[in-house]
Amino acid sequence: MIFSKKEKKIVAYTVEKCPSCKKESKRKFKQGDCLFVESSKCPSCNVPMNIAKIFGEPTA
Ligand SMILES: [Zn+2]
Repeated sequence: MIFSKKEKKIVAYTVEKCPSCKKESKRKFKQGDCLFVESSKCPSCNVPMNIAKIFGEPTA
């Protein structure tokens, strides 16, 4: 597949899921993010959330 320079930019996002309340939160991907590793803490349960998904979305 060939990507031309005219294509829209793809922004990577990371979805974190709390193992306790199952709440998912989406944020921008940052360097070092890896699937299924512990990430930031759930604000309501105060337990580490796991990264459930990393995906790319075209910018609007
Ligand atoms: Zn939680």
